[in-house]
Amino acid sequence: MKYRYDKGKNELSILGFGCMRFTKNGASIDLDKAEKEIMTAYQAGVNYYDTAYIYPGSETAIGEIFERNHIRDKIRIATKLPQYLISSNAALDRYFKEELTRLRTDYVDYYLMHHLTDVAMWEKLKAVGVLEWIEEKKRSGAIRNIGFSYHGNTENFLTILNDYDWDFCQIQYNYLDEVSQAGAKGLKAAAAKGIPVVIMEPLRGGKLVNMLPENAKAAIRSNSRNWSAAEWGLRWLYNQPEVTVVLSGMNSLEMVEENCRIASQAEVGEFTEEDFALLEEVKRSIREKEKVGCTGCRYCMPCPKGVDIPGIFRCYNAMYIESKGQGRSQFIQTVGLTKEPAFATQCIECGKCEQHCPQNLPIRQKLKEADRALRPLPYKVAITIARKFMFRKPAGPSHR
Ligand code: SF4
Ligand code: SF4
Repeated sequence: MKYRYDKGKNELSILGFGCMRFTKNGASIDLDKAEKEIMTAYQAGVNYYDTAYIYPGSETAIGEIFERNHIRDKIRIATKLPQYLISSNAALDRYFKEELTRLRTDYVDYYLMHHLTDVAMWEKLKAVGVLEWIEEKKRSGAIRNIGFSYHGNTENFLTILNDYDWDFCQIQYNYLDEVSQAGAKGLKAAAAKGIPVVIMEPLRGGKLVNMLPENAKAAIRSNSRNWSAAEWGLRWLYNQPEVTVVLSGMNSLEMVEENCRIASQAEVGEFTEEDFALLEEVKRSIREKEKVGCTGCRYCMPCPKGVDIPGIFRCYNAMYIESKGQGRSQFIQTVGLTKEPAFATQCIECGKCEQHCPQNLPIRQKLKEADRALRPLPYKVAITIARKFMFRKPAGPSHR
């Protein structure tokens, strides 16, 4: 494992464990599986574990795993204040204490204002006294480093970055998002101020692995580097000295092992002109085909009408990146035949989802387009018949 440094010159593994995608066992996290994955990463040198108040069951699960294995003082926990739920000063302490209880600890190494998308959100927090609250928590040692995670435009990022003496920040960044969100400009601005930057969505929610167009996959396969698609995405980040930690939402041992191997080999400045040219080719082929720039982050969910927004967009994109049949068949399996209907036509256009989308997607309009493409008339009829058959009410006992 390679390490870079936080503001206090503490070593941070360049690979961070994103704790939002653990495998579920029914409604709860499969704790034994998560424990194996976390401990494999820990043995390989990963010391940064990222969670949040709103990741279902995640804080509680990792709190238990760290306690069971007696490693709390050997790792660093990053978790987040659900700032969108805060409307009073008292709420700051209430959520923080709940998080400490879930995590079975009395301090948080890296604490973030979660999901800021514009300056107004930060101003609202300041209005309820967050600055004094942070100072007090840092003085008492309950918070060691304070930062924010960000999903808005570059301009607002720079305003928030320059408004406070942050210890670190977290941004969405990958080779497709070089000029969107905080972007390379935001990354470099933070680094110039000596602020470590943690990267989320390094592979755009897996899209840079699972949904690459065939010609992009072929270009990667035939390249003499012999790197996997994930490896290209991660090494592109590690290549940049301004990047401190790259988070990966790992949920299999294979993924942990591959990511740890990459993080033990990658070097700053290892990319050649040919490497950059290959990624340009990959980007061109993705952009040519993709219909909606959805990362699958699910911040738009739940929809009050049950529309499976990211699921529908994933299938819509798959129609153009993979094939029409592939996209439609994925749609039937993952959206069309779920017990609770989740179709785009259930949308009442309330607009709630669009307020939360970090990519600023016109979700309502794109849902209509997606529905037209995914459910032409014959599919609509077939899905309706299949649903009637699958979800018919069981016959009651006969009374003769
Ligand atoms: S606009 Fe439509 S999809 Fe979005 S939250 Fe409202 S009902 Fe759901
Ligand atoms: S529509 Fe936006 S908020 Fe919803 S999953 Fe896609 S990118 Fe995330």
